[in-house]
Amino acid sequence: MLTLDFHPAGRHFLQIPGPSPVPDRILRAMSLPTIDHRGPEFGALGLQVLAGMGQIFKTDQPVIIYPASGTGAWEAALCNTLSPADHVLMVETGHFATLWKRMAEALGLQPEFIGLPGNEGWRRGVQADLIEARLRRDSAHHIKAVCVVHNETSTGVTSDIPAVRAAIDAAGHPALLMVDTISGLACSDYRHDEWGVDVSISGSQKGLMLPPGISFNAVSKKAITASKTSAMRTAFWDWNEIIAMNASGYWPYTPNTNLLYGLAEALDMLLGEGLANTFARHERLAQACRAAVKGWGLEIQCADPAVYSPVLTGVVMPDGVDADAVRALIYERFNMSLGTGLGKLKGKMFRIGHLGEANDLTLMATLAGCEMGLRLAGVRLAGSGVQAAMEALAAPTSTPDLKGA
Ligand code: PLP
Repeated sequence: MLTLDFHPAGRHFLQIPGPSPVPDRILRAMSLPTIDHRGPEFGALGLQVLAGMGQIFKTDQPVIIYPASGTGAWEAALCNTLSPADHVLMVETGHFATLWKRMAEALGLQPEFIGLPGNEGWRRGVQADLIEARLRRDSAHHIKAVCVVHNETSTGVTSDIPAVRAAIDAAGHPALLMVDTISGLACSDYRHDEWGVDVSISGSQKGLMLPPGISFNAVSKKAITASKTSAMRTAFWDWNEIIAMNASGYWPYTPNTNLLYGLAEALDMLLGEGLANTFARHERLAQACRAAVKGWGLEIQCADPAVYSPVLTGVVMPDGVDADAVRALIYERFNMSLGTGLGKLKGKMFRIGHLGEANDLTLMATLAGCEMGLRLAGVRLAGSGVQAAMEALAAPTSTPDLKGA
């Protein structure tokens, strides 16, 4: 058994941008006895979660559920639709976009990484006009897919997916549109069908409030057609067999039964709250978090207010302050985990997650922990971010809907 010599009182504050804290309702649902995944009851559970995920992705087309982390669902998207050496257009928005590009290379694809010069892409998200210009130059249609990240969890910057769709259409290009909404889904508006996405990729451990361990592909008819001729080899990720068996609520291999109990509960919570209310709650908390960062006189990693993330906020440290040392102090002193800076941002910033079942008081406690920790670390603050966030939450325009839809 794992032994820890660290036993602080109270709950740990898991304020990283995923995995997000798992609500008690979901933990209890997952504690039910594991059932026969080929038995009569399982089919009903399978059909229930597949239908519910269609509502979350806003799609009438198939959703595939994998017993895998989000990285697996990235691989599934590429392997089901593409052929070795295919060109794919990817956009440098941060660490996760970079990892996805590395995966494409490892799979023998030819990714082209475009974006703003320097680290600007890590502050401003996808620029759809760059995609359009690149696709217009590809008159021979060598590029088979455009891959973008909806909510860059490494930066707290979102990207405008309908603008990317419009750019592809304006260029008259047939490339598939693949979107990583691993941390965006169930936190901010997402419309697989309406936005014309061919493959949407997501995971369990963010807005869906589950532990890590399941991930998703939502697909389009065009993506399914591409999967019939794709020359990349894949067995585990193959959509077609899974979709065929999912028709009766079953999987070709063992699904993670207890996580699916948890998913059924999460769907009940999210659809009960009403997705529009869930998104408004995230937006409101994110605004208050940003008010706090501004109150401290610190910089937000996202430089364009139009694409601020409702999921997390990246807090840039003043020169000479090691963000990981601040995080370590906050962890030890207040039993709270904040997200580390990833890739190019290592040590330069930390990330505050405000996703999942976050509410006013979890946010305020989180910000109090940050403010106390920043002061203890000797970071000079302009003022109280906690006070600024309380004012933001108390503003008459900022009314929480505690009753739900
Ligand atoms: N893409 C994004 C935007 C993510 O936030 C993450 C994980 O945080 C991943 C991909 C990778 O997913 P996983 O770690 O579940 O494999």
